[in-house]
Amino acid sequence: MTNPEVKAPQKERMRIYHKEYYQRPEVKKHKREYMKEYMQRPKVKTYYEEYNQRSEVKKRIRDYYRDYDQRPEVKKRRNESRREHNIILRSQFLEMYGGICMCCGEKDIRFLTLDHVNGDGADDRRERSRAAILREALSDLNTEKYQILCYNCNMGKAINDGVCPHHNNSSLTKPSIRHTHSKNMRQRRNLRTRLFEVYGSVCACCGENEERFLTLDHKLNDGNHARKQSGAFKIMRKAISEADPRKYQVLCFNCNCARSQHNGICPHHDVK
Ligand SMILES: [Zn+2]
Ligand SMILES: [Zn+2]
Ligand SMILES: [Zn+2]
Ligand SMILES: [Zn+2]
Repeated sequence: MTNPEVKAPQKERMRIYHKEYYQRPEVKKHKREYMKEYMQRPKVKTYYEEYNQRSEVKKRIRDYYRDYDQRPEVKKRRNESRREHNIILRSQFLEMYGGICMCCGEKDIRFLTLDHVNGDGADDRRERSRAAILREALSDLNTEKYQILCYNCNMGKAINDGVCPHHNNSSLTKPSIRHTHSKNMRQRRNLRTRLFEVYGSVCACCGENEERFLTLDHKLNDGNHARKQSGAFKIMRKAISEADPRKYQVLCFNCNCARSQHNGICPHHDVK
């Protein structure tokens, strides 16, 4: 009769020995070569082809890749390569479409962005990735659909019912033409008015004072995090109630967007 308590240490020793044995380079190499040959055998090949088609195996593989995709280091790597890819697409787009804001003539490419001429950019961005939009714009020069604007003209146009404030100075009190958004728009206008009462209505970086070009800026560079946590209205309400100039300031969209894309420093302060 064998006593399991006596057997256990020996089992453990064997386990350690095996582990060490299979780490040896010559053993690893031999195993690799053997497996390569083994997997080529017709019987084995057919077996694995059938095996991989089994629904429970398929599920296990799917689950594995889903978990793999969720790993922080994998996510980080993918985000980085996506960002690099987007930078390339963006610069190709800027070159193809003229490299200048079609409204105000801004030339610094760090302030320029893709604008949907007919104003459906927000909807489009909800449905497609940034890269998909850029790829379509690049597939064929389509200036009726896409153009370059600076962030100010692009966002000012969205706030101002599809017309950049540069072309229209009296529209703040005009009722919205987009009825479906009108309640939202009213709410946004009210919040923006209160925001500027608290933080002033001039860009802390470049001095822009057209209210429709101004936005809330998170001084501590935690804006992206805040936006992921809660909606834009909630953020504005929070900033208004906190009234904390150490955390928040008003910037124009150009300075705000360019700053968030250039490690927290607006190109206006970029010493070359
Ligand atoms: Zn512009
Ligand atoms: Zn403009
Ligand atoms: Zn500015
Ligand atoms: Zn600036």
